[in-house]
Amino acid sequence: MTFAVHGLPVARGIAIGRAVLVVSSRIDVAHYFIKPSEVDTEIDRVRLARNAVAEELHKLQASVALMGPNDAPHELSALLDVHQMLLQDEVLTSGVKHWITDRLYNAEWALTTQLEVIARQFDEMEDEYLRERKADLEQVVERLLHRMKGTAAVLAPTPPRRKRAAEADSDDGEADPTALDPVDVPLVLIAHDLSPADMLQFKKSVFAGFVTDVGGRTSHTAIVARSMDIPAVVGARSASQLVRQDDWVIIDGDAGVVIVDPSPIILAEYGFKQRQGDLERGRLARLRHKPAVTLDGQRVELLANIEMPEDTVGAVRAGAVGVGLFRSEFLFMGRESQRLTRLPGEEEQYQAYRRAAEGMQGMPVTIRTVDIGADKPLDGKSTRSDTHLNPALGLRAIRWSLADPAMFLTQVRAILRAAAHGEIHLLIPMLAHASEIRQTLSLVDFARAELDNRGAVHGNVKIGAMIEIPAAALTLKTFLKYFDFLSIGTNDLIQYTLAIDRADESVAHLYDPAHPAVLRLVADTIAECNRAGKPVSVCGEMAGDIAFTRLLLGLGLRSFSMHPSQILAVKQEVLRADTSKLVAWAHAVIDADDPAAALAVAR
Ligand code: PEP
Ligand code: MG
Repeated sequence: MTFAVHGLPVARGIAIGRAVLVVSSRIDVAHYFIKPSEVDTEIDRVRLARNAVAEELHKLQASVALMGPNDAPHELSALLDVHQMLLQDEVLTSGVKHWITDRLYNAEWALTTQLEVIARQFDEMEDEYLRERKADLEQVVERLLHRMKGTAAVLAPTPPRRKRAAEADSDDGEADPTALDPVDVPLVLIAHDLSPADMLQFKKSVFAGFVTDVGGRTSHTAIVARSMDIPAVVGARSASQLVRQDDWVIIDGDAGVVIVDPSPIILAEYGFKQRQGDLERGRLARLRHKPAVTLDGQRVELLANIEMPEDTVGAVRAGAVGVGLFRSEFLFMGRESQRLTRLPGEEEQYQAYRRAAEGMQGMPVTIRTVDIGADKPLDGKSTRSDTHLNPALGLRAIRWSLADPAMFLTQVRAILRAAAHGEIHLLIPMLAHASEIRQTLSLVDFARAELDNRGAVHGNVKIGAMIEIPAAALTLKTFLKYFDFLSIGTNDLIQYTLAIDRADESVAHLYDPAHPAVLRLVADTIAECNRAGKPVSVCGEMAGDIAFTRLLLGLGLRSFSMHPSQILAVKQEVLRADTSKLVAWAHAVIDADDPAAALAVAR
């Protein structure tokens, strides 16, 4: 039966595929396709792991039998029996075989997929005792996964992106994804939550789109989705409960709708929309080499936001003239699961920043110092709520850096060294106080002196601050005095101006970029910077949203930084704009009671 789940649209386009349900803690399990010739080997890996775990449990049972009732309660022995039973369970074994043989999933992926299928059945049981056995099943699968570590024949290669349903069929315009060979079917990921660290794993995976139950429009999960340029819906509340493993799903990333088990008519309609989207992308691609100049001759700088040095490839391909925001914290995340040192050292960071500088082929790269904390924990496991009462107002970004000067100095030294290989700008997040500014700048001086003492080669950097706290926007004079450039982080500026947690879907309807207070702060910051002759850009999501391009141009903005996937659409807006006609209109919009309505009125 067809039904729809509504959420927040965060990354544009349509994806049609089969659902893969994954719990966040298991996203670091490798997801890749094996060759048909590797099916037996993968099945064997599961069998060997199962034998090893059976042996392990057997030994445990034997040692429990030798213990007295005070050392080992009776329940322990019974529990181990249950684990043995679950391990040999036919539904688990045959299901895993099915995913490997028919879908060509690697063994770990097959195992976690079948775990989801069975866990769902446990959830639906009336009997509480049986329902609680889900935790036992998870432990058994955990043991199996542990045993399989290091036995993979292939180490998760970066798989080719799966065909979109529209590309997968012939050109007859009537593509029916349900008629495809099972291994050619696009897959979409459905999860309760994905942390930014999970998203890094996800970037290397095979999925054509994703849906999460939680998250807001500018949560970091949504931001990474946008950078991947795949359709995504977040804040879909109970999607992960309603969708079942392997269901056919349409993700409409433009409308924020997830359609489950679509009828043939709906499938055909969305297949058509998907092809239209592909055609539109093709048209926009022609603008790639065109300079971004308005009708009245104003040159506009379109820069890229990146998370990893490798993202520079996409940035250059999209025609970015530099990187306006390199969110360096992604180098610091998810390291535990990759068995790396807790934090990246100076040399590792230097190599990463240097790769980014070289990747941009002489164009400027703005590296923001780490913005860890709040909804960007170091590893995916620590969630927003388990550290502090109010993490968005707590120790994040520059506050985190100033609380650990050795870590901050390491990062700054790495950035200064990389500056010898290209034009690098240093950007500081979340500043609000003059004392923080002075402390930060003296640490940068200290890092420079350390490099000089060591005789290490380093380059000059321009230093900028993010304006993302209302207090900063309201004390611009101080910022203009100390910094070479400013960059407006509208994602946080909206969050802190409106007191709306940007990651919380329950208040997402109040997260309003067009709120008059937000627009006033943005407009004044741009105007003051222009008056002072200081470069200013916007690097929050507003910069890549074409609904705001003309407004920002009218307010005097000439530098926009966004995901590479948004650059061409924004460029099209720039090419069609005449800033001389936009100034009065833009000021009328920000003075209106309801700027969103005024924005919608034709200019
Ligand atoms: C912002 O707050 O607008 C911004 C660009 O930084 P981030 O989204 O990484 O917090
Ligand atoms: Mg921010």
